[in-house]
Amino acid sequence: MKEKTSPTMTAKRSKTILGKLLNYYGEPVADLQFQNLYQLCVAVVLSAQTTDKQVNAVTPHLFSKYPDFPSLARANISDVEEIIKSTGFYHNKARNIVLLAETIVEKFNRKVPATREELTSLPGVGRKTANVILSVGFDIPAFAVDTHVLRIANRIGYIASENPLEVEKAITTTLDESEWKRAHLLLIRHGRVLCTARSPRCSECPVNSLCGFADKTA
Ligand code: SF4
Repeated sequence: MKEKTSPTMTAKRSKTILGKLLNYYGEPVADLQFQNLYQLCVAVVLSAQTTDKQVNAVTPHLFSKYPDFPSLARANISDVEEIIKSTGFYHNKARNIVLLAETIVEKFNRKVPATREELTSLPGVGRKTANVILSVGFDIPAFAVDTHVLRIANRIGYIASENPLEVEKAITTTLDESEWKRAHLLLIRHGRVLCTARSPRCSECPVNSLCGFADKTA
């Protein structure tokens, strides 16, 4: 079979990187806490520009007060703001999740849609959020590019681009669809633990020998 390539990364090399990260971190799981698609959808929207830990700190209260889309759709936005304040950008986020709930109740019969096109029609849901919902919520092959993934893809040498869609293509073309979810979760874990934005711990990194980052710390 012909090996798939991106401009700077072969499929073989990409699989080796994924294997080394998997060996190092173990099977990754999503850090956002959720029990069902409603909770996942809301939590992912709240996770923009903040940490999953911060979201996990507010969602138990939010979901106990508003356990499903209909109750959230009827919520008073200022009450929601009060609960999610610590996640930042809370005016927009509160408005978005209430509108999202209204839209899902009215247009999608209370069910989270399972296509990227429908998901991105929802308030507060862009391509990255839609890809997380598809991948984590529905197990549909999709690859979300967040700030960690974008940074690491550039450092390792998948691509030189700040464009999330280009990064998504550069990575997904080197991996089988079945590996996308795991790759996404592993790169996020790597970005939080070793390949941090300010001070990557390159001397401890399992993919050091495969990484093209010019400013490696070791
Ligand atoms: S060697 Fe350094 S820059 Fe490269 S992936 Fe590892 S931690 Fe990140």
